[in-house]
Amino acid sequence: MSKLSEKAAALLSEGTVGLVIGYEQGTHGTRPKFCRKAEDAATLILNDKCLNNIGGYLTKPELIGSGKVAVTATLAVMRTVVQLTAEHQLTDGNVIVLALDGDEVLQMASIDEIKKWLAAHPEDLSDENKALLSKLKALSREERWNFWINEMNKCIKCYACRASCPLCYCNRCIVEVNCPQWIKPWAAPLSNMEWQINRVMHMAGRCVGCGACDRACPVHIPLRLLTISMAGDIKEAFGVASGTGNIDGNVLSSFKPDDKENFIH
Ligand code: SF4
Ligand code: SF4
Repeated sequence: MSKLSEKAAALLSEGTVGLVIGYEQGTHGTRPKFCRKAEDAATLILNDKCLNNIGGYLTKPELIGSGKVAVTATLAVMRTVVQLTAEHQLTDGNVIVLALDGDEVLQMASIDEIKKWLAAHPEDLSDENKALLSKLKALSREERWNFWINEMNKCIKCYACRASCPLCYCNRCIVEVNCPQWIKPWAAPLSNMEWQINRVMHMAGRCVGCGACDRACPVHIPLRLLTISMAGDIKEAFGVASGTGNIDGNVLSSFKPDDKENFIH
């Protein structure tokens, strides 16, 4: 049994937590694993193939109940825990994060501990993402608009980007509201753009850059370019990076008299 499995099994058998959420090897890559008994933890793994953001399960009351839960965490999952706590969706101390430092298993039981770890382990963009982003930034406004119109034309409104996002936790989404009908439900150029602009604006200052939306999109729209670029704009305008816990709530729902307003034209 790996040290990670041993630690998870111990937390379950001592009764410290009622559930450990982690990853196990599936047929086509890694998949989420929900452990309620110590023996369930035997197959847990945590490596660079663990790409799904399992932090999204932490806001599912039907899964979590009211007890304490542990989650095996990549840096993206840790940022998710911090952001969800800042947005008052999780209670500090109710989620134990299990991470790996080499062969050793770290157990973090408070947001301060997670924040300290994240501050010491900043995650840079991949070279591929940096190249794509600078290519997009070099386009004129009109070229950029045409690029996104072409991309969004492919959207089939499956909402997989929403379903995969750990920060999309509203019980009722704007796309399901039909009185008034803010966004047309069918897939068409204008309504696709309306949908995605809405999604991205709702993520502004909250997106933790996990890339889950991008990986989930069945028609391969490079959604990560939107979310990464938006995260950069928010950091530049407000000096806040999502998932760092440096603000209570989120940037766009908080007002400071000295906030820049140079984005309003
Ligand atoms: S990268 Fe996508 S899935 Fe991840 S937090 Fe941002 S919007 Fe949500
Ligand atoms: S996952 Fe892709 S196709 Fe599905 S709604 Fe989102 S952008 Fe559209």
